Parts: sequence; structure tokens; C-alpha cells
Amino acid sequence: MLRVENLVVRYGPIEAVKGISFEVGQGEIVSLLGPNGAGKTSTLAALMKLIVPQAGTITLAGEDISAVGAAQIVRRGMTLSPEGRRVFPRLSVEKNLLLGGMVLKDWRNPEVLNRMYARFPILHERRNQLAGTLSGGEQQMLAIARALMSSPKVLLLDEPSLGIAPKIVAENFDLICELRDEGFTILLVEQNVFQSLSISDRAYVLENGRIVASGDSDDILKSDLVRHSYLGVA
Ligand code: ATP
Repeated sequence: MLRVENLVVRYGPIEAVKGISFEVGQGEIVSLLGPNGAGKTSTLAALMKLIVPQAGTITLAGEDISAVGAAQIVRRGMTLSPEGRRVFPRLSVEKNLLLGGMVLKDWRNPEVLNRMYARFPILHERRNQLAGTLSGGEQQMLAIARALMSSPKVLLLDEPSLGIAPKIVAENFDLICELRDEGFTILLVEQNVFQSLSISDRAYVLENGRIVASGDSDDILKSDLVRHSYLGVA
């Protein structure tokens, strides 16, 4: 569903992503793991063209989207729930949601919004509240719901459990599994390595802008690299 070949991201002299290749199959959850500064966020931002990659080929559902801009990528079925949630704090919950679908022609169609409220009743309850007044967990829910408003095929999730209470983190992971079961294709960036590997089908480990390990999540979980470096297991 998503194929990335030789992706390079550079900030001036810094090469943050050094020619990585990976793929995410239809209906898979794939984890992109790695320490701070490994290039995970840069990778997701480049896929969405929030930053322009220096090189690389990106294919979405069989179409080359390497030269396609952000709004068009959303229309073609890929969205990002960004790190730090980035909800618009001074806009209502409902306006935040509507913004997620705004690049679509029929963005005012109430059906999509109603479907979202049916899935996330708390957001319905709080629809007129300013997004900045929601709890961290609710803001995360809003960020994912906003990403779903454009009815994507592929969801990029950047650190959905960062700064969220442990109980809500578990709910978040449940939600990601539900989305996969409904047919969404998910690329998941997480610091929470154990939980991320537990729910994903496959994983890539990024270090210093390069992929240093990849494979089935079960195998990555058992690998020495991940056990030593990320899980603190001797
Ligand atoms: P984190 O978990 O801390 O977000 P990450 O794996 O997502 O880490 P990136 O945020 O993609 O990593 O950063 C990769 C590298 O690019 C780092 O060396 C970082 O300092 C650098 N970098 C990221 N954003 C910028 C920027 N806007 N300008 C310059 N360098 C940047």
C-alpha cells in the first residue's frame, strides 16, 4: 500500500534520513522504532511533504506520489496524526475535526462528522469546547479523529502515547488495533517499544537516519539489538 525507496531528508548540512527504504502492506501495522533523533519524525513529515525530501520514491496504492504536495496526498488517502498532537487549541473540537477533512470536496458532509462522533462519543460531548481545554488523552483522540476525517487508507501516527496517562495509552493501542481490524494501513512511530511491537505485524529500527534492523515484530522483539538497546533486557 505504501512503498518508500531511498528516502533522503536533509536540514541544511544535516542528513537526518539517509536513503531508507521500507514498505507497509494493506491492512498492516508497521512500527518505525528508534532512539531520539533517529529520523522517525522527519520520515513521516517527508512522506506527507511537510518537509520536502531531498531524494526518494514514494508510492501510495500503486501510484507514484513523490512529486505530489501535502493536500493532494491527503486526497489520495494518506494522513498524519503528528507528534505533540498539534490540535488548534483556540478552535472548538468540531472545527478541529472539520479541518481534517477540509481538502476534500464534500468536507461539509455531516455524515463523516457524525460517524466520527459515533466512534468517539467524548468528542461529541465536547464538540463546542476549545480543543486546548481537553486533557492530553482527549487531545490525542482528537488528533487521530481529525486524521480520520479525510477517510484515509494509510494513517501515519507519530508518538500517539507521548505524555499520556498509562491507562489512556492502553486505550490508544486498542484503538490502533481496531483501526487495523477495520482495514486501515498504519505506520506507527512509538517510544513505547514493547507495546508497539506487541500490536504491529512488522517493524523497522532506525538509527542515525539508517534502517539497522527490520522484520516481523515478534522476531524484532526477540532480537538482541532491541532487547539490549530499547527494552533494557540483558
Ligand atoms: P524524536 O523521537 O526525538 O522526535 P526522531 O527519530 O523523530 O526523534 P527527527 O526528529 O526526525 O528524529 O530528527 C532527526 C535528526 O534531524 C536529528 O538530528 C534532529 O536534530 C534533526 N532535525 C530534526 N528537525 C530539524 C530541523 N527542523 N532543523 C534541523 N535539524 C532538524
